[in-house]
Amino acid sequence: MKAARLVCKGCSAVHPLEALFACDRCFGPLEVGYDEVDAPVSRAAIEAGPPNLWRYAGFLPVAPPTHGLPVGRSPLVRADRLAAELGLACELYVKTETSNPTHSFKDRVVAVAAAKAVELGYEALACASTGNLAGATAAAAAALGLPAYIFVPADLEREKIVAAAAYGATVFAVDGSYDDVNRLCSELAYERPWAFVNVSMRAYYAEGSKTIALETAEDLGWRAPDRVVAPIASGSLYTKILQGFREGRAAGLVAPGPDPIMHGAQGEGCAPVATAFADGADHVVPVRPTGLAKSLAIGNPADGAFALDVARSTGGTIESAADDELVDGIRLVARTTGIFTETAGGVTAAVLRRLAERGEIGAGETVVAYITGDGLKTIDAVVPSVATIDVPADVDAVDAALAPAAVT
Ligand SMILES: *Cc1c(COP(=O)(O)O)cnc(C)c1O
Ligand SMILES: [Zn+2]
Repeated sequence: MKAARLVCKGCSAVHPLEALFACDRCFGPLEVGYDEVDAPVSRAAIEAGPPNLWRYAGFLPVAPPTHGLPVGRSPLVRADRLAAELGLACELYVKTETSNPTHSFKDRVVAVAAAKAVELGYEALACASTGNLAGATAAAAAALGLPAYIFVPADLEREKIVAAAAYGATVFAVDGSYDDVNRLCSELAYERPWAFVNVSMRAYYAEGSKTIALETAEDLGWRAPDRVVAPIASGSLYTKILQGFREGRAAGLVAPGPDPIMHGAQGEGCAPVATAFADGADHVVPVRPTGLAKSLAIGNPADGAFALDVARSTGGTIESAADDELVDGIRLVARTTGIFTETAGGVTAAVLRRLAERGEIGAGETVVAYITGDGLKTIDAVVPSVATIDVPADVDAVDAALAPAAVT
């Protein structure tokens, strides 16, 4: 496929491949439109490609950059013990995005947006972040030798703010919610010659998430899973996962079959898409975010209505998890897989648990849960639910401390 145009998702108006963040006719969101090419990519060519997301360059709107961080090819981990604990007889996997350079899937979307920004001649990167995008943008800019301007809500987890600053970015902690930050950045994108990766570059940025689906299919032997559970903030990742599987099939790479059943997960403190799904509504009513899942705290999600379409058209659901459920989800995944996820993955695990409890997942299914970020960035969420045993440096004291456990 060759990127040919930006297309309005609202009115279908066509725009050039520039840094545009909304349709000038209807203010609708834009996405990249492609032309078919004569020589489609083959499985063999992809398998022989670079060990990062650029092996899927044929599905991306910009040529692979000559330098930058190695992003993608994250492990798809079989999770038999997690499945057993949930009473599932299915083939369950977790796709583990913690292996990316800044430990979340946001490195993928930034890789594509940054490459396009460089191609368009921009000399600085910027973003409005719920957390993980801050570090991903700051790191990409550092790798490219560009300045970065990062805007985050001031109440963000310290780990995420500090890491972004350590990469040398200029970090603005904004007094307001993510939605306030996003509005500010929309104004700044007009005023400043900065490539806002998720504002003015959003159409390119979003394409990066397709690679998470293409990798999943490749690692499943070029088939799509039957069912997916993924978190939703703006709804971009969730909708692009389905698009990635569909494009892989259209290109003849991924075995034919029905769309995966798509389940979306939100934190109860910010669940506008789950609420609209439950209400049978076709649009999303904005909310003011609260709760532990800060990386998903977008009260007015840009792709909310498209996410509703994805859930309904695939027979899926969009559900929310309370803070205590998401903490249980983090600990469940950690103790059964050895993978420590941040709050977004806890939300995903909680929704997986809910599906298992309802008996919705068939024994013969292949199911993939997307663990999109690293637990070390949201450590405070887990602190109240874990404990250490204080002992002197003495064997008897350790034995004494273990004694009650030995009895039970
Ligand atoms: C940003 C983010 C998401 C979801 O983002 P979308 O805006 O829905 O694409 C999921 N998980 C983590 C950890 C994130 O940082
Ligand atoms: Zn339009």
